[in-house]
Amino acid sequence: MKSSAFSLLPLLAFVAAFAGGPLVLPEFYVTLLNYIGLYAIVALGLVLLTGVGGLTSFGQAAFVGLGAYTTAYLTTVHGVSPWLTLPAGFLVTAAVALSLGFITLRLSGHFLPLGTIAWGISLYYLFGNVSFLGGHTGITSIPALDFFGIELKSGREFYYLIWAALLVIVLATRNLLDSREGRAIRALKGGTLMAEAMGVDTPRSKIVIFTVAALYACLSGWLYAHLQRFVNPTPFSLTQGIEYLFMVVIGGVAHVWGAILGAGLITILKQWLQDWLPQVLGQSGNFEIVVFGLLMIFVLHRARDGLWPIILRMLPEHTDRPRVPEAEALPRRPVPAANAVLLDVKDATKRFGGLVANNKMNFNVRAGEVMALIGPNGAGKSTLFNGISGVDSLTSGEVTFCGERIEALAARHIARRGMSRTFQHVRLLPTMSVLENVAIGAHLRGRKNFIHAALRIERDEEARLLHEAALQIEHCGLREHMYDIASSLPLGKQRIVEIARALATDPCLLLLDEPAAGLRYREKRALADLLRRLRGEGMGILLVEHDMDFVMGLADRVVVMEFGEKLAEGLPAEVQSNPAVLDAYLGGVE
Ligand code: ADP
Ligand code: MG
Repeated sequence: MKSSAFSLLPLLAFVAAFAGGPLVLPEFYVTLLNYIGLYAIVALGLVLLTGVGGLTSFGQAAFVGLGAYTTAYLTTVHGVSPWLTLPAGFLVTAAVALSLGFITLRLSGHFLPLGTIAWGISLYYLFGNVSFLGGHTGITSIPALDFFGIELKSGREFYYLIWAALLVIVLATRNLLDSREGRAIRALKGGTLMAEAMGVDTPRSKIVIFTVAALYACLSGWLYAHLQRFVNPTPFSLTQGIEYLFMVVIGGVAHVWGAILGAGLITILKQWLQDWLPQVLGQSGNFEIVVFGLLMIFVLHRARDGLWPIILRMLPEHTDRPRVPEAEALPRRPVPAANAVLLDVKDATKRFGGLVANNKMNFNVRAGEVMALIGPNGAGKSTLFNGISGVDSLTSGEVTFCGERIEALAARHIARRGMSRTFQHVRLLPTMSVLENVAIGAHLRGRKNFIHAALRIERDEEARLLHEAALQIEHCGLREHMYDIASSLPLGKQRIVEIARALATDPCLLLLDEPAAGLRYREKRALADLLRRLRGEGMGILLVEHDMDFVMGLADRVVVMEFGEKLAEGLPAEVQSNPAVLDAYLGGVE
């Protein structure tokens, strides 16, 4: 996320507009602002879902409909108080979102948006065809909201409720994003591989944002029903679902304020175009849709991140990225007994179709040793890392970690048991700071969930997680880069950030895939010192590295791989003088 998803200046403007708007504006503008507020609440759900989590939904309008129809039906048919129909709507929406989420969120790539279109259409037709919901005529005579004895009958009165709700949603969203759960959600966007390796339950994170976005939509629907006092299916159609997506894409899909900006722009523009285009063209019709389509294409070409980042550049420099707080250190895992076998790999085999990338690999790693895995490019080292760490499954073989068989476990369950890793192709979240990236590593060391985060009652734990991240950053010699954006670092240093992130999981076994690549001589020496110190503390380290001076000066034992098989194993000196190794790996000796 760009330097501020949320900053003070827009908040002040928001509050000023909120307080003064209805006092000075004519009725027409108050109505317009009401709609902007209603749309913005839905759009904020899309920021969470699409902008931050990377999951595109065309179906949000259907959830708005669930909120609206639940209250319409319960208040008019059963005489339930509107204040009780809101929690009822939340329950209905959560139930529908959870069931739809379990089915659709498994879909990958463009199948997910297609899935959302499918249920978006289904729910719309359901609203129109169920007789107790009034069919296409809908439900009328929905009661006005009664707010401590004041009937919210006019738009002017309703305005404060809508914009107060929006303010609450803005704050909750912002709190959620700035938390342990928020980092897990932001980690979804780069694919789930890294997040899972750091212990994030990614299916759960997806379900959470999907449900939260649906609940926002439901709230908007409930407000809408009591503002309009009647509902019919039209505003909950797929077209409206697409319009919500337009709003966030044009405003800035990854930004809390972008959603509000987009909702405002699209709503005002639509109003204006609906008045103006038919006059110009001399016939009536929904021509504004054509203009929106063109606008969308233009934005996707010229300002892919939407308009908010452009405005942000004009505002004074400001950042709300987390800083390192004072906090108590997190508890550590007990250090394994010296020399205990941490990892035991037996006959590990991995096939990619006809290619055997790992063939019956056998070796172990003990506590307090550096085991190096070397071999030419394509030997199968990274594949073996993936098999051991659960990032990919082995075709056959056994992996025992701390006395427990783990080859059938998912990466996040292996991470929880104390194994952590870095990736050969760096997997950092490029727009997040070094501190935030490393804090993802501490994910499993926190307990507080998204509700704690939204209410901001997890600050103690959050401080301890950030504190831990900062500690590991300092250990890795990156203190000066603590608040830098990860992508601004040279690649070599990004690899060290990955080591800090792995250390933040508090592992007893560390898997490092080419950590010294791209480092300068002095940086390599510092890295070797760090690894020696970790070894001294009892950590087991499995190291893939091409720099032979680095490997031979550091490793206690070496396994040499070629064509997926083990060619040799032994002390560095033995391996270095092994003729088979010299011949195959070093290309013969002089
Ligand atoms: P190393 O890390 O030792 O350089 P890798 O483990 O990356 O080697 O690759 C070993 C072999 O497996 C290579 O021939 C590579 O092309 C192949 N390979 C790796 N990943 C995949 C994959 N996902 N699908 C098919 N082949 C793969
Ligand atoms: Mg590799």
